[in-house]
Amino acid sequence: GVREQSPLLDGLNPQQKEAVEYRGQALLIIAGAGSGKTSVLTRRVASLLETRDAWPSQILAITFTNKAAAEMRERVHAILGQASDGMWISTFHSSCVRILRREADKIGLSSTFSIYDSADSRVTLKRIIKALDADTYGFTPGSAGAKISKLKNELADADSYARNANMSDPQEVMFVEIFRQYSARLRAASALDFDDLIGETVYLFRAFPKVAALYRRRFRHLLVDEYQDTNHAQYALVHELTRPVAAELAQEMEDDGVHVRNLRDATGAIPGASLTVVGDSDQSIYAFRGADTRNISGFERDYPGAKVILLEQNYRSTQNILSAANAVIGHNFDRTDKKLWSAGGDGEKIIGYTAYSGHDEAQFVSDEIQVLHSAGMAYRDMAVFYRTNAQTRALEEILVRSATPYRVVGGTKFYERAEIKDALAYLIAVANPVDELALRRILNTPKRGIGPATETGLSSFADDNGLTFRQAMRNSAALGLGPKVTGAILKLAELLDAAALMLVPTRVTGDGVPIGGSNVSEVLEFLLAGSGLLAVLRGSRDPQDEARAENIEELVAQTKDFNKENPDGGLVDFLTQVSLVAAADDLDDASGTVSLMTLHTAKGLEYEAVFLTGVEEGLLPHQMSANEPGGPAEERRLFYVGITRARQRLYLSLAMTRAQFGNINVAMPSRYLQEIPAELIDWKQSPGTANSHGGTQPRALNARREGGFGGFGNSLSGSGNGSTSGSNSAQAGLPPGKPKTEWANKITGTVRDNGALELTAGDRIRHHDFGEGRVNQVTGEGTKRIAHVQFDTAGAKKLLIKIAPIEKI
Ligand code: ATP
Ligand code: MG
Repeated sequence: GVREQSPLLDGLNPQQKEAVEYRGQALLIIAGAGSGKTSVLTRRVASLLETRDAWPSQILAITFTNKAAAEMRERVHAILGQASDGMWISTFHSSCVRILRREADKIGLSSTFSIYDSADSRVTLKRIIKALDADTYGFTPGSAGAKISKLKNELADADSYARNANMSDPQEVMFVEIFRQYSARLRAASALDFDDLIGETVYLFRAFPKVAALYRRRFRHLLVDEYQDTNHAQYALVHELTRPVAAELAQEMEDDGVHVRNLRDATGAIPGASLTVVGDSDQSIYAFRGADTRNISGFERDYPGAKVILLEQNYRSTQNILSAANAVIGHNFDRTDKKLWSAGGDGEKIIGYTAYSGHDEAQFVSDEIQVLHSAGMAYRDMAVFYRTNAQTRALEEILVRSATPYRVVGGTKFYERAEIKDALAYLIAVANPVDELALRRILNTPKRGIGPATETGLSSFADDNGLTFRQAMRNSAALGLGPKVTGAILKLAELLDAAALMLVPTRVTGDGVPIGGSNVSEVLEFLLAGSGLLAVLRGSRDPQDEARAENIEELVAQTKDFNKENPDGGLVDFLTQVSLVAAADDLDDASGTVSLMTLHTAKGLEYEAVFLTGVEEGLLPHQMSANEPGGPAEERRLFYVGITRARQRLYLSLAMTRAQFGNINVAMPSRYLQEIPAELIDWKQSPGTANSHGGTQPRALNARREGGFGGFGNSLSGSGNGSTSGSNSAQAGLPPGKPKTEWANKITGTVRDNGALELTAGDRIRHHDFGEGRVNQVTGEGTKRIAHVQFDTAGAKKLLIKIAPIEKI
C-alpha cells in the first residue's frame, strides 16, 4: 500500500523532504541563508530516530553554539514527543571535551584537565616571552598566540613547524622556542587550550586506532551544521569519525568482546558512518580563525558518491531584504550563484539612515524600536547588530534613557571578570592540582603577604626539584622565606587539600558507582570562607568591591542551579560548562528584551526587525581587514549574514562622525551600500546632516577623514593555544572504590622520599633531569634539608633532599 507520510515531513518543500529522507553515506546540503538548512538537519535527526534507522546513541550532531545545540535537542524532542537520551548534540568543542575526559590517560592527561581560555593562554605566553626576552624579537603574547593558534588549527605542533621553518632566521628560532615552551607548560599543567580540544582529539584517534574504532562503531550518523566555518582540525576530526573500521581491527574488537557483528559488511569491515553537512560558503565569516570553505567545495572529492541537495526557497525574509542580500553577495568573486527566492512578498522597503553622529544614530534606533513596539512588535523580536563592541556604548546610553529593555548578548563576559576568574581558579586548583596558572593566580588573592618574588621563587624551586607548583608550596618551608609567608603558603595548600577531600565519594553503590561527597556549591562556599575572598570584598570601602562581591555571590547561585540541573554533575563538569560558554549562549528568547550583538554572534539567528548599525568604511569593512587579501570579501559576507537575519524589517544606519577615544572621526558610507539597488532602500537622514539628498544614497562626504579609525575594542585575532601530549605526574583522578587515604595521597601528590639520603659537601650526585653535579653545601634540618648543587651542565640549583629525584654516585 501507500506509505503514510510522517508528520515530520509536513510543510517541507521537495528538496527539503529529500534531504530529510536521504539514507546514503554522504550528503551535502548547500544553500543560502534562511532556506531551512538548520531546520532540515533537525528534522533529519528526528527522522533517523523515527524510522529506527538509528538509535539515539548512534547520532552525533554538531552545532555552532551550545544554544543551537539545546534548541535542536528541544525541537527533536518536540517532534518525537520523547526524550532521546544518549544522543550527542553539541559543539565541536563540547564533544571533544567529552571524549578527551574519558580517554585522557591515553594521551598523558589528567581526566580533570584544565581548559585555558585566551586570557589564560596570554598569561602563559607573557611569562614565556618575558623569560626568553622574546619581546626584543618583536613577539607579544597576542602575536605569538595568534600564530600558535593558526598552526594548531592546521594540526601543526612546534616540532612539525620547526621542520619546515627557516631556522637560520633567529626570529623563527625564537618563535619555535616560544611554541615549544608554551606546549610544555600546558602539558605540565595538564591543561588544554581551545585549539587543543580539537587537535588532541584528532591526535588521540590517529595514535590509538582502537579508541577511534570504538567511537566509529558508536556514532553511525554524523551531522554538522555551519560546515563552511570548520577549520582544518575540525575537518580532520569529522574525517576520523566517519572512516570505516578495517576488517582486521573489527575482528580484534569482536575478539575483545565488543559487539560489532551486526555492523560488519561482507568484507568484515565496519563501513564508515553516514555524514551530513550543511553550509553556505557565502556565510563563511571565521577565516581569521582558520575556517576554510574548501571543506565544502572539496566535499564531493573527499566523499565520493556524495549526494548534493540545493535549497532555493528562503522562508525567513521578505523579497526586498533577500534582493538586497543577493545583490551584495553577488559582488564577491569565486562563488557559485544561488537562486534564492522568497514567497513572502516584497514587504516593506529597507530603511537607510544617515546620522550626524553615533549618538544621533543610537537615538534613531531607539526611536524606531519604540515605533515598532507601539505597532505591536515584541522587544524580543528586534535586534541591533554592530561590527565592534565599542559601538555599544552610545546605543546603551540612549536605550537606558528611553527605558527600552535590552540585553547585550555576549557582552557581559561574566566569566572573564577578575573576581570570577579568581573564584574559579580556586575550584580549578582543587580539580587539577598540577595547574600552576590557577595556583599562581590565587597565591596572593586575597592578599596574604606573598609577593611576586616569592611566587617566581616557588616556581623555579618547583622546576629545579622536579615538583609541581603545588608540591613546591607544600615544601615551601625549605625555602627559608620567613615564618609568616611560609605559614600563608602552607595554609593555602591545606585549604585546597581539604577542599579536594570534600569531593571524595563517601560511599560506593553495589554497582561500584561512587556517590556522596560534597557538591560544587559546597566546595565553593568552603573555599570562599577559608580563603576570605568574599569577606575581603565585602569588608572593603571601595564601592567597586561591592559589585565584585555580588558577582561572586552570583557565581555561588549558579553552582546551586548547576547542582539542581545536574544532580550527577561534579566539579569538573561545572568547570567544563563554564569554560565552553560562548557569546551566543547568552541569548534568552524569553527575556522580552531587544538583543544587541556583534555581527559574528548573529550567525544562524533570525529576528522580525534588524538594525544593522555603523555601515561605514572603517567599520564595515573593518579597517583591520580592508587591506588584507580576502578581507573585504569576508567583511561583505559578514554584511550578508547581518542582512539575512531580518524577517520583516531591515534598517541600515551610519554616522557621519563617530567619537573614538576622545577623537571625532569623520566617516564615509560603506562601499557595500552602493551594491544594494537604490529602489530597495528608503533613505532618511538626521536633521543635523547638511548637504545630503533625501531619497538617494548617502554621498561620500566632502570632509576629509581625519586619521581614520583607531584600534577598535574588538579582537580579530584567534584565541589561545598549546599542545598536549606526553606524561605528567601527580593527578587527582578519582577512581571509584578506593579508600580515603589513598585518594588523599593522590590528591596531595605524595612523592618519593629520600629522607634517609645522607649528603655532605663534596658528594657527587645524579639528578633525573639535570644530570651529574657536586654538592657544595647542605643547609636546613630534618625533612627540610637542602642541597646546594653545582651541576656539570645545568648550573647551580637548590634541591630539597627529601623529594628531589637524585641519587648519590
Ligand atoms: P541560516 O543560513 O541563516 O543558518 P538556515 O538555512 O539554517 O539559515 P533555518 O534557520 O533552518 O535556515 O530556517 C529559516 C526559517 O525558515 C526558520 O524560521 C524556519 O522555521 C523556516 N522554515 C524553514 N523551512 C520551512 C518550510 N518548509 N516551511 C516554513 N518555514 C520554514
Ligand atoms: Mg542555520
